[in-house]
Amino acid sequence: MRTALVAGNWKMNGTSTLIEEMVPSLNAFAKENPSVDVLLCPPAVFLNDMARSAEQFSVGAQNAHYEASGAFTGELSVSMLKSAGCSFVILGHSERRALFGETDELISKKVLAACESGLTAILCVGETLEERESNAHFDVIRTQVVEGVSKLSPDHWSNLVIAYAPVWAIGTGKTASPEQAQEIHAFIRGVVSEQVGSQVSDTVKVLYGGSVNAANAQELFAQNDIDGGLVGGASLKKDDFLTICAAAVK
Ligand code: PEP
Repeated sequence: MRTALVAGNWKMNGTSTLIEEMVPSLNAFAKENPSVDVLLCPPAVFLNDMARSAEQFSVGAQNAHYEASGAFTGELSVSMLKSAGCSFVILGHSERRALFGETDELISKKVLAACESGLTAILCVGETLEERESNAHFDVIRTQVVEGVSKLSPDHWSNLVIAYAPVWAIGTGKTASPEQAQEIHAFIRGVVSEQVGSQVSDTVKVLYGGSVNAANAQELFAQNDIDGGLVGGASLKKDDFLTICAAAVK
């Protein structure tokens, strides 16, 4: 039995006022609903503040460097994120891949560094519209999963979550249908099984991301292989995010 996880990715959005507004409600929700793990990933500058007041839910970062320290201006190491109160880090988000040139090789180093440090890495994978329309999506997703986890040893898998976030559905208002998402989630579980066996593929959480909202979350989360969501835009609206978290209650 996999516990549901609902992760809010604020991207480069949010303010300390929004933190003050959202944290008490999320604490209350998470306390009353232990069957759902709740996670918020604000911009790095807010991590420490949010982690101090997030008594009942987890706080995560949106990126990390794979080195422990050094001359990497503007970057943050996994141990710095941990000391700021993070227990999760999103890695390989499609925006990082497309806008900041992150490759599968780089992402695999970050995933290893995060898992080794005890952070839980949320490895994001997903195809573009062009890739789906040319029927390349299964190959693209297989490569992103296989390469992304290529440096992990079996012990690391308890610190890994995979998020299927199709690029064509992120921030577009177009959601994968529950059937489309379920098909890919089952496929991802199959790829994991080929890599490390069915014990891991049965237990690893696979989240869906891509225009999850208060109206569609329930149907998506009801699918067998969907263990919750990676939520962008709707995680900036308190009531919508709470409704999405409630949709993951079993
Ligand atoms: C995301 O950031 O991964 C995401 C899914 O964003 P949105 O929910 O806004 O589509």
